[in-house]
Amino acid sequence: MSIIPTPPQAPWTAPFWKAAQEGVLLIQQCPSCRHHIFYPRRHCPYCGAPRVNWVQASGRGTVYSFTVVENNAPSAFLEQMPFIIAIIQLEEGVRMMSALVACDPADARCEMPVEVTFERVSGELSLPKFKPAGAAWKKGAVDA
Ligand SMILES: [Zn+2]
Repeated sequence: MSIIPTPPQAPWTAPFWKAAQEGVLLIQQCPSCRHHIFYPRRHCPYCGAPRVNWVQASGRGTVYSFTVVENNAPSAFLEQMPFIIAIIQLEEGVRMMSALVACDPADARCEMPVEVTFERVSGELSLPKFKPAGAAWKKGAVDA
């Protein structure tokens, strides 16, 4: 069994990972132009402000896009197949690449509402993932 690779961490992303360990999803917000920012930056990519703040995200969003990995996953992920890699559009407007969990791949849909959940990988790392929000989501709800 291979060891699952973990995301690279830089000093300026430390608040994100520390909050994730506590079950809190942080993104950044520019104090000048108020844009929300993800992935973590040292400067505002919109207005160039030299400093950005960390703010708590709602954890709610929708599936912007996704793919189901059913074959040829890297060896560390073979036991997890099939799994869903998704780009989540958070309520705050930023998009986050993550995984859609607690969802049958056949039920995954773009625009389905999701909410964050945290998967503890080790004592020092929790990963934000997303699950369908509420019990109301059913396959075909947006196809009708
Ligand atoms: Zn800005």
